[in-house]
Amino acid sequence: MTEPTAPLLRVAGLRKSFGTNLVLDGLDLDVAEHSCVVLIGSSGSGKSTLLRAVDLLEEVDDGVIELRGVDLADPWVDANAARARMGMVFQAYNLFPHMSVLANVALAPRLVHGRTKDEAESAAVAILERVGLGDKVTAYPDHLSGGQQQRAAIARALVNGPELLLLDEVTSALDPELVGEVLDLLAELRAEGTTMLVATHEMGFARQAADLVCFLDGGRVLESGPPEQVLGAPEQPRTREFLARLH
Ligand code: ADP
Ligand code: MG
Repeated sequence: MTEPTAPLLRVAGLRKSFGTNLVLDGLDLDVAEHSCVVLIGSSGSGKSTLLRAVDLLEEVDDGVIELRGVDLADPWVDANAARARMGMVFQAYNLFPHMSVLANVALAPRLVHGRTKDEAESAAVAILERVGLGDKVTAYPDHLSGGQQQRAAIARALVNGPELLLLDEVTSALDPELVGEVLDLLAELRAEGTTMLVATHEMGFARQAADLVCFLDGGRVLESGPPEQVLGAPEQPRTREFLARLH
């Protein structure tokens, strides 16, 4: 049995190199249930690699990735089943252009979770209403704004009720005026208790929604803490340099 105090996600000693490029150098990170952990750091600091490793899209060289105390790297663990317990959203919305918004969102419930067409579609409609796209279910992705497409992608990640939501720079590809609607949705999900691990350059979001901010540097979490500490009064010179460069 997992102890009740165990984090939902525990990453420990994670190591990953691409050739001679050491990207994750024994990285440790815990995500408590119902918390929002925000990853910050320079481009190339390993945020995407970490998220992809957690979602088992990237093989790691060493370390532990535990979801509710079960090591996902264990060869006995069914990677597809583990991945089905998480939802991931990328910078590019990755919706299938030849499918309606409804079909995009209903796909995983049918294919991965074996639900009937009716069940999958009613779950998809409900979650699309939740993200404010109840009037767009029959639309095709290229008829939606970038912000709407990204909200549809978030709906697709949420439709199976994931235990953990992984978000990688989900507002970086959006026109500035569309960033707010996506960040507002994330803040609402956060308020509802969705557990999230979020890589972002949006410091306003980090300040408002993060329980824990982690600054990645040199393949590790160099500094972490509540946003007012890491963003407001960083202890590490590297964190201060990073934040100064954003202004
Ligand atoms: P971030 O998301 O923080 O910008 P990434 O995790 O994307 O950082 O990248 C970290 C480092 O890993 C970079 O140096 C990048 O070039 C390298 N990298 C990422 N993915 C690959 C890959 N598939 N093959 C080779 N190098 C990669
Ligand atoms: Mg990245």
